[in-house]
Amino acid sequence: MAPATDSPPDRTARHRVRRHPERANYDRDALFAVLDAAFLAHVAFTVDGQPFAIPMLHARDGERVLLHGSVSSRLLAALAGGAPCCLTVTVLDGLVLARSQFAHSVNYRSAVVFGRATEVTDPVEKARCLWRITDAIVPGRAADSRVPDASELEGTRVLALSIEDASVKVRSGGPKDRDADLALPHWAGVVPLALVRGVPQPAPGSESQTLPAYLAPIAPR
Ligand SMILES: Cc1cc2nc3c(=O)[nH]c(=O)nc-3n(C[C@H](O)[C@H](O)[C@H](O)COP(=O)(O)OP(=O)(O)OC[C@H]3O[C@@H](n4cnc5c(N)ncnc54)[C@H](O)[C@@H]3O)c2cc1C
Repeated sequence: MAPATDSPPDRTARHRVRRHPERANYDRDALFAVLDAAFLAHVAFTVDGQPFAIPMLHARDGERVLLHGSVSSRLLAALAGGAPCCLTVTVLDGLVLARSQFAHSVNYRSAVVFGRATEVTDPVEKARCLWRITDAIVPGRAADSRVPDASELEGTRVLALSIEDASVKVRSGGPKDRDADLALPHWAGVVPLALVRGVPQPAPGSESQTLPAYLAPIAPR
């Protein structure tokens, strides 16, 4: 990863947070924490001048972000061809309700990553990456599921996105109403939000099986 992620970028860098720069963080550990906490990534790229932003699963693998999908995926083909891309993830932490409509907001941890992807073609490395991606869905799941066979490996494209530049932005705390609005009668505060797993629903054939320990309730991430 470029050193820019460890220190504030210069004023013209693409990942310099200009709006609310006090909410920015360029520390690599902060970036990794947000990437690991987020379930959903949006991958943006341009083909023939048309921008696309596609939701995907992701998994961090050291200093790379892994993506996967069908070999017929247009998105993955474009990225495998070296197209520059921008990946974003967001963890929503709360609804911020202010007395004024203007000051309504959300609490969040988000990351924007710029980079280019390369395709993982070595079958052993590809299987290892798919293991990582499976464990990103539920930690411990990869060891409790069948590994891909040769045809599944062949039909799956795995990409490793190198992180060239990245920014993290975090908003926390309560509403920021103007002093003149503080006496207004409207309730103000934060409604916390968290993504929580529901009660597991067994597929046909698994009704009588003991629930794996890794599916025990966990704290929101
Ligand atoms: C869930 C959520 C909802 C939001 N809703 C709104 C909204 O409704 N209206 C609104 O104006 N803004 C909203 N924001 C903030 C928004 O993401 C931008 O930060 C803000 O709009 C400034 O955009 P900009 O292009 O002017 O940023 P700039 O500061 O000019 O962006 C420059 C660089 O800063 C970095 N950056 C910018 N924003 C983020 C970010 N959120 N996370 C990580 N890096 C970032 C990127 O690297 C970007 O290239 C929301 C953010 C989140 C996470």
